[in-house]
Amino acid sequence: MKFETKAIHGVRHTNNPTSENWGSTVNFATTFPIKEFGVEQEFEYSRVSSPTRKDFETLIAKLESGKYGFGFSSGMAATSSVFTMFKAGDHFVFGLDIYGGTYRIMHDIFNQFGFESTFVDTTDLAKVEAAVKPNTKAIFIESPSNPLLDVTDIVGVVAIAKKHNLLTIVDNTFMSPVLQRPLELGADIVLHSATKYIGGHNDIIAGAAVVNDEGLAEKIRFAQVALGALVSPFDSWLLLRSMKTLKLRVEKAQENTLKLLAFLKTHPEVVKVYYPTENDNKGKAIHEKQASGGGAVFSFTVKSEAKAKSFFESLKIALFAVSLGGVETLVTHPSTLTHTEFPEEEKVARGVTRTLIRVAVGLEDADDLIADFKQALEK
Ligand SMILES: *Cc1c(COP(=O)(O)O)cnc(C)c1O
Repeated sequence: MKFETKAIHGVRHTNNPTSENWGSTVNFATTFPIKEFGVEQEFEYSRVSSPTRKDFETLIAKLESGKYGFGFSSGMAATSSVFTMFKAGDHFVFGLDIYGGTYRIMHDIFNQFGFESTFVDTTDLAKVEAAVKPNTKAIFIESPSNPLLDVTDIVGVVAIAKKHNLLTIVDNTFMSPVLQRPLELGADIVLHSATKYIGGHNDIIAGAAVVNDEGLAEKIRFAQVALGALVSPFDSWLLLRSMKTLKLRVEKAQENTLKLLAFLKTHPEVVKVYYPTENDNKGKAIHEKQASGGGAVFSFTVKSEAKAKSFFESLKIALFAVSLGGVETLVTHPSTLTHTEFPEEEKVARGVTRTLIRVAVGLEDADDLIADFKQALEK
């Protein structure tokens, strides 16, 4: 089955064995009466296993080309739960531009439990390999990165990981399984903030992990059940509903993105645009090999901070807000909103300047968005 068919028919059974319904039910029960003394059953207590969460987990696994899916209460709950499979003294290599929340749990929480992390520019495979130590257990990457859309060679990272017997963990939130499926490229664990494209409407906080290996699945299931940072039945149901339109939404948002980029590149107030498939992105060829499109997040710079400020203040359709992946177009200022944990000099050195604007394109009419950006740039 192709992606759209799987998204719509991938979970087709009844949640309630006595109902004729083919799957669009929510089961809110926290406990399920034991049918037979001494016989274990699939659903007993819903932190451990529950029907609607199971449907969400089945579908996200199918869409990511994995065997086992796990639903969590947020993207950070997914990442934190997965990391509890490691031990004090273990070392990890992270991309420099990973999501700020991931940096924060490693830098401010897991460090207290004896985890060691090194943050490197993973667009340079030599730097990734050089960071591997005898106690390294995993390499954690995001591609493309936020907010400059730099590309990491997933297959290249997987090769280094396999050579040193490490796991490759990919946060695939920005691409969604529509555009990039890291398990097909050899990665071991895929993570998602389902708050973004999978939920898609800026109204659910949720997360997911997907794997193929049974041993890894056992460890993640144990962490999920033991820690209990679960996605609720109602949110699981909303996510199942959202996933039926995931491909349509991502494709439309990407189409809008290409139109907005074409407009911005010719506008005199715009200095530079950042997008994975732009000719001046040094990872363009790699991105085109590992993903089927550039996605719907891009960044651009304007000539001054004052211009950026007036742009944010003048928009009438796009909203000045953090997050991405929803139907609304959101614009954000990485320097003051999403990359606040880094010192100013470090941000500037990395290109996260005060004149940088990040755009998460939504599903509005492209001409309306272009007109909105035009008037805001010219204010
Ligand atoms: C939003 C986001 C997260 C965190 O997800 P939450 O659902 O907010 O906990 C992790 N990684 C990336 C790339 C994100 O964009």
